[in-house]
Amino acid sequence: MDPYFEGKKVIVTGAGKGIGRLLCITLAKQGAKVIAISRTAKDLESLKHENASIEVYSQDISDWSSTRKLIEDIGLVDMLVNNAAVDRKKPYLEIKEEDFDYLYNTNIKAAFNISQAVVKCMIEKERCGSIVNVSSIAGINPVHSIGTYSCTKAALDMMTKSMALEFGPYKIRVNSVNPTVVMTTMGRAAWSAPGVADNILKRIPNGRFAEEIDVVNAIVFLLSDKASMINGIQVPVDGGHHTNFL
Ligand code: NAP
Repeated sequence: MDPYFEGKKVIVTGAGKGIGRLLCITLAKQGAKVIAISRTAKDLESLKHENASIEVYSQDISDWSSTRKLIEDIGLVDMLVNNAAVDRKKPYLEIKEEDFDYLYNTNIKAAFNISQAVVKCMIEKERCGSIVNVSSIAGINPVHSIGTYSCTKAALDMMTKSMALEFGPYKIRVNSVNPTVVMTTMGRAAWSAPGVADNILKRIPNGRFAEEIDVVNAIVFLLSDKASMINGIQVPVDGGHHTNFL
């Protein structure tokens, strides 16, 4: 238990698998009231089974109106983690309009929609808050064949900085974490082909991929009052990968 998180309400998107799922479990153990939003109902059932205190909602956050209604119905929360994202590994010339919309609708448009609804409520109720956006080092440096995904993450990083600028006066902080490869469902689909992972590993000074817990630890720190003077930054969780792109 961490007294800071005890009783605090936190929304986590993309809570069914990977980083979001471990984050929900970790925050619930710290005493937070976790509201877990994800797409696949089966994942949420098993999350609820793992920790009955977690409130779960099956929602495709790329649907603007129904997501907006859900967030407005949930009402005031103390924290938000925009973690849900999708990837389509394709070079630019193979990207179709449908791919572009699929990536942008979840990775940036939904994060904007949810953040706007959450912050409106915080400001109305004169409550401080903290938002963490889960970005990627691909939002900082280009990575071949995931350029469109990278663009969504660069947009998310700018949303972090510009929201920090506008919401700081209301004591609402907004920060990003930018992980390197994590071998979740998303990470394995993109990077586990023979030879591919080794090439990336060579560029990570710490000599390993990030684990889910590495990312979760950074998010929990940024959400907490230990980070109360940290606002509008990108935190690479990458073992130094961003220093070594050439
Ligand atoms: P993951 O294992 O694929 O989990 C993503 C979760 O988000 C899943 O539960 C997924 O649900 C949910 N989700 C996706 N689209 C959604 C939507 N439209 N509505 C509701 N839920 C949705 O991915 P992860 O690796 O944990 O990724 C978490 C975050 O880290 C993402 O923002 C990702 O971009 C970022 N990141 C990951 C890596 C990596 O190598 N893994 C590296 C850098 C950054 P379904 O399974 O039901 O679709």
